[in-house]
Amino acid sequence: MKKTLKIALAGNPNTGKTSLFNLLTGLRHKVGNYPGITVEKKEGLATISRHLQAVILDLPGSYSLHPTSADEQIAYNILLDEKNPDHPDLVIYVAEAENLKRNLFLFSQIKDIGLPVILAINMMDKVIKKGISIHTETLSTMLKVPVVAISTRKETGIDQLKQTIAHHTEFDTSPMTDLAEMKKRLAAEKIKSAFPNVNLYKIWLFLTHKEPIKFLTKSEWQNILDIRSEISDLKRIQQRETIIRYQKIQDVLHASYRIDRLQGNDLRARLDRILIHPVLGYVIFACILLLIFQSLFAWTSAPMDWIDGLFATFGGWLGSVLPEGRFTDLITDGIIPGISGIVIFVPQIAVLIFFISLLEETGYMSRAVFLMDKIMRRYGMSGKSVLPLISGTACAIPAVLSTRNIENWRERLITILVIPFTTCSARLPVYTILISLIIPKKSYLGLFNLQGLVLMGLYMLGFFMAFFSAFVLNKILKREHGNFFVIELPEYQLPLVKNVIYSVWDKTRSFVFEAGKIILSISIILWFLASHGGRPFQNYELLSKSSAGLSLDHEKQQDEQEVVASALLEHSYLGILGKSIEPLIKPLGYDWKIGIALLSSFAAREVFVGTLATIYSVGDTDNSFDTVRNRMKMEKRDDGSPVFSFATAVSLLLFYAFAMQCMSTLAIVKRETNSWKWPLIQLFGMSSLAYTISLIVYQIIK
Ligand code: GDP
Ligand code: MG
Repeated sequence: MKKTLKIALAGNPNTGKTSLFNLLTGLRHKVGNYPGITVEKKEGLATISRHLQAVILDLPGSYSLHPTSADEQIAYNILLDEKNPDHPDLVIYVAEAENLKRNLFLFSQIKDIGLPVILAINMMDKVIKKGISIHTETLSTMLKVPVVAISTRKETGIDQLKQTIAHHTEFDTSPMTDLAEMKKRLAAEKIKSAFPNVNLYKIWLFLTHKEPIKFLTKSEWQNILDIRSEISDLKRIQQRETIIRYQKIQDVLHASYRIDRLQGNDLRARLDRILIHPVLGYVIFACILLLIFQSLFAWTSAPMDWIDGLFATFGGWLGSVLPEGRFTDLITDGIIPGISGIVIFVPQIAVLIFFISLLEETGYMSRAVFLMDKIMRRYGMSGKSVLPLISGTACAIPAVLSTRNIENWRERLITILVIPFTTCSARLPVYTILISLIIPKKSYLGLFNLQGLVLMGLYMLGFFMAFFSAFVLNKILKREHGNFFVIELPEYQLPLVKNVIYSVWDKTRSFVFEAGKIILSISIILWFLASHGGRPFQNYELLSKSSAGLSLDHEKQQDEQEVVASALLEHSYLGILGKSIEPLIKPLGYDWKIGIALLSSFAAREVFVGTLATIYSVGDTDNSFDTVRNRMKMEKRDDGSPVFSFATAVSLLLFYAFAMQCMSTLAIVKRETNSWKWPLIQLFGMSSLAYTISLIVYQIIK
């Protein structure tokens, strides 16, 4: 007579339970419903050995023994109720090789209620392709169950599984998880007297079951309710259980499971072997950066010029139709340039965010992080900081926005704080005019242009300072504890256009409305400071009117207006401020005129040249580069020496390289860090650094 064994196939959904069921039972199975519910029940007969046959039950897929669905409730009832006609003598737990960690959670619960279990690791055919190696002996020892590696697709391991089933009487049924800590918190004595000889973990599963358990008798359920009333922190203990289980699983997998995706031979592994190759990987990353960088300039210069022109035309038109007066001035010189100063960044932000979300979506970003992380980590940043830092050379604003995909707050903060050191395009006009003043137009070997070399040096200086200050910040800033790092390389996939567009839209919009508010307010304040002043202002306004009326000669009229504009600026609050800081900036080699330009540069660096042009009364009509430069060259101090000496120019260059002179960046940093603390630290930290360095250098070389 053959013995008949009851076997249940348990496991998460889609692990191959039904495939295994079909393999074991062949045609000898029937499909019905569980009594009273419309969940499909598959049951069949399998021949295990010459002396043993088994009734196999394909349990509904579930994730845990804390049931949250009808399917899970069925598995719960069958596995926990010993009187259930379907209660198995043996469980075959089907797990999927690729997702062992997730799969082992339910496994550990079933193991701990004391049922004999075999762990069948399915889909072994995929393992080689994915570069996974599993040490089944170690797994078996640590989990205290027999482990069989199978593939229902390739039909491998099935015979071994059957042989293992035949030895089911010898299985170790002790729990795999050490739940001593939990037991301490349960009313263990009471449980023992109410349910003698019942597995404690099983009682725990009763205790945490929300609705009355149908297979328990009335008095048994009453006992459960009594015990439950004595346990105060049921929820906490349950959370603790989950943590303990995952810790155990982590330990087990650490010892027995390796996944080295590079060893695989699927498309992903083949791509990875190239994209994270120790040499080729960096070359490709550099090329991608170059491409993004190019597009950041090439694609955005036209729309940026267009926006610039549009606002200028619009402002000019408004100025001509609105009645003359302070209100009109506010609109044309304060509000419109303010809004323009926000909208002008939209193209660069959009392009940068577009590329970043494309890289994220395809899965490439994680590879770049993998490559760069070791280097960047030394400076307290992440592999994801590389792109923001490089984009800082276009503009700090999109760069700061693009740090949003750095998950770790500390790394993100450090990146945000050092980005303004990279040489943004607003510094370019300042650099070029100063370089052309002091560096001769020489070239060496017909290749290296001296002015160009100096400019390049300034870019390098910016990067150097960014990394140096990151290094310092990394030492200073408090470290979050337990921040260990695992890079999970996701699958490659085609990017979803919808996601990319949404991300571009979302970030651009939040910049325009959030940072925009602050940028606009500051530009109105600056407009006020530059266009209003004390008593002299009234006189000059009169002067301006009278002179405009008196001179008939058009050219002379123009000249007079320039002189008036210059005088107005000189006597504005900004001018007064510029003059009052003269003692402070004199040791750096600057006079009050440079002081005014310096102050207005705190709105935006590129204002420097325009402000100097106004102060030196270079007409609007021809404030071309050369005119301003010549005017700067001619400017003399009281003792007759040139204002823009070599030492002064170098000191200015360094000041612009290091000082935090960009209110828009401050606004976006306020927005992204959600506090004024960090932008203020940036403002004062960077500016005092700039001051100190310029001071030292000027005093040495003057
Ligand atoms: P169940 O939800 O646990 O019953 O899983 P199924 O038996 O329905 O299988 C889920 C999916 O995994 C199906 O697409 C199967 O074809 C696939 N599958 C099952 N076993 C294997 C295997 O050994 N190798 C591979 N590559 N796929 C498998
Ligand atoms: Mg199934």
